[in-house]
Amino acid sequence: MNCFVYWDENSHDGVIIDPGAFEDFEKKEILKYISQNNINIRLILNTHGHIDHIMGNDWAKKMWSVPLLMHKDDMPLIDKALDQGAMFGVTFPKPPAPDEFIDEKSEVKLADTVFKILHTPGHSPGSVCFVDEKEKVIFAGDTVFNGSIGRTDLWMGDINVLMDSIQNKIFRYTDDYMLYPGHMDETTIGEERANNPFLNGEYDKFA
Ligand SMILES: [Zn+2]
Repeated sequence: MNCFVYWDENSHDGVIIDPGAFEDFEKKEILKYISQNNINIRLILNTHGHIDHIMGNDWAKKMWSVPLLMHKDDMPLIDKALDQGAMFGVTFPKPPAPDEFIDEKSEVKLADTVFKILHTPGHSPGSVCFVDEKEKVIFAGDTVFNGSIGRTDLWMGDINVLMDSIQNKIFRYTDDYMLYPGHMDETTIGEERANNPFLNGEYDKFA
């Protein structure tokens, strides 16, 4: 999965989004990037509560001692994280409880940036996107991918809810917005609106 470090070049304040780091080499790579760029991590943000995105929460929390923010509707996933891990044969430290729940009314600030929070359920009930409207950047979690969409066969997943989240919340933004998804390569709203087979009208012919 993709872990992002997003930071302000003037203040060097930054956030870490989805610290899914599990192996030591992953943690080292994140730490190297942060120290090479002199970034002060101020917040840990989770797009949602699936284990691949939160396995490193405990590590990140101990490393930076900063608030961890997520949407409350994914709390059942956090509570059951170790059981989920066991199902996939992975063991990791119990994820810490979030310090703050966020929803569409929350103001998440980093330097002069205020992230807009989109509640975008469908892949999981508490999935959110973090939008920097000034820089035209969206951290989309597992909602929309480059050429695909998030799976909806997991707990409380719902394809119709997901489609509604993408079409009516994420696609409200203009084509020039960058999209950074939770897996695979970055893309843009324009590219996905035009060419994503689930979103450009092709899917509706078969649904
Ligand atoms: Zn997921």
